Amino acid sequence: MSLSLYKKKRDFKQTPEPTGGKTQIGHLVFVIQKHAASSLHYDFRLEMEGVLKSWAVPKGPSINPADKRLAMLVEDHPYDYKDFEGTIAEGNYGAGRVIVWDNGTYEPLEDLEGKKAQEKHLLKQLEEGSLKFRLHGKKLQGEFALVRTHMGKNTWLLIKHRDEYAGTTDITRQNESVISGAVLEDVNKNNRTRTKSPPAEKTAGDVKKKPAKTPREKTKA
Ligand code: MN
Repeated sequence: MSLSLYKKKRDFKQTPEPTGGKTQIGHLVFVIQKHAASSLHYDFRLEMEGVLKSWAVPKGPSINPADKRLAMLVEDHPYDYKDFEGTIAEGNYGAGRVIVWDNGTYEPLEDLEGKKAQEKHLLKQLEEGSLKFRLHGKKLQGEFALVRTHMGKNTWLLIKHRDEYAGTTDITRQNESVISGAVLEDVNKNNRTRTKSPPAEKTAGDVKKKPAKTPREKTKA
């Protein structure tokens, strides 16, 4: 478990993103963020060993078992990222708006007592490249799998299992945040940004692009 890559990619004087967080006892959590970075994608995150294991899913999740959604494994994110919603300013890694599209708890399919045992099992599945779990979210429910492909160690597929929560409707059409009700397009307009910029820069309006003090590589996050 390490957040070193996460921290290396970000300048916390420039981005409102969280730096850490202490996990809660009880249930393992998941979060899916909708992120309008250089290209729109969904970030699928599962709590494991104190951090959020993360995959970027360009098309977002599907509840149709016939769909196999590309999911690129990215760097671990801090636990507190589960509540992050706002704007990452231009010039920063992953610049763009973020909403919490879905969240809740999750568990392995096997009946294992306690979070420790569940995590141990899930970490083994992660290592093996085949994770199977049950989501208890507001939009997503039931069994899903994340399966590593042969196209590369970070290239995975997100697949819905056949169960009573499977269907053919496009779940991403439910586009509002589960914590604020905002849609992605609202984030700037309602000034729902948690920027640490000095007040002078905030008042000028959201559309103005602020040049970063240190130019950073602009990459999809
Ligand atoms: Mn992202």
